[in-house]
Amino acid sequence: NYGEVCYYIKELMEKHTFQLIETVADVLAREILLKFPLVQKIALEVKKPNAPIMLPFEYVSVAVERQWHNVYVGIGSNMGNREANIGNAVKMLNEQRDCIVTKASGLYTTAPYGYTDQPEFLNGALCVKTLQSPEQFLRTLHSIEQQLGRERTIHWGPRTIDLDILLYDDIVMSTETLTIPHIDMENRLFVLKPLDEIAGFMRHPILNKTIHQLYTQLEEK
Ligand code: AMP
Repeated sequence: NYGEVCYYIKELMEKHTFQLIETVADVLAREILLKFPLVQKIALEVKKPNAPIMLPFEYVSVAVERQWHNVYVGIGSNMGNREANIGNAVKMLNEQRDCIVTKASGLYTTAPYGYTDQPEFLNGALCVKTLQSPEQFLRTLHSIEQQLGRERTIHWGPRTIDLDILLYDDIVMSTETLTIPHIDMENRLFVLKPLDEIAGFMRHPILNKTIHQLYTQLEEK
């Protein structure tokens, strides 16, 4: 309801003082998305009629677009109480104000990948709605991994918890720290099997095949 949104904006503006109109736009967009679950996306323009610029002008303005993103996360554990580790990670993710775990697959036991002399893994997949950017979301996952006591010793070695971004909307990106879709996911049954359960219909943005197609294709190999 538009009236309710306007009323909420008024309330927020009265509660806070802002230095920059960029911050006003950012905070308002975020708070509206958090408060009204039916709003998926918002385009907002904040205008300021008397800014300190020595030129004739009507107003200065900042426009932002913010939206909920759909992220698929791979989750795995092969140390300690594996179910409890996974349960704790899901809980910690859901406790983030701007993350909502909307789906969770079943958990599957899989043989270790890469470095094979280590205990079996328990693997699953999650769907998370978030307002965080891919980089922010990766930092969130790292912080949860750290809090759950993951030590990065052997590459592909045992871990209390491993959290990976598999898909983020239909983004394709690759930086030094982040590759989306997750690299090589099409060759990993422990990724595709749980992901097929909650996102079989999703299309891999590079391979242009659905997760279900990738899963059945690999299963048949
Ligand atoms: P791992 O040991 O499997 O958790 O991977 C370690 C590193 O992979 C992380 O520090 C990330 O910077 C990097 N990385 C690259 N792409 C991704 C992704 N899609 N999800 C999670 N980590 C990623």
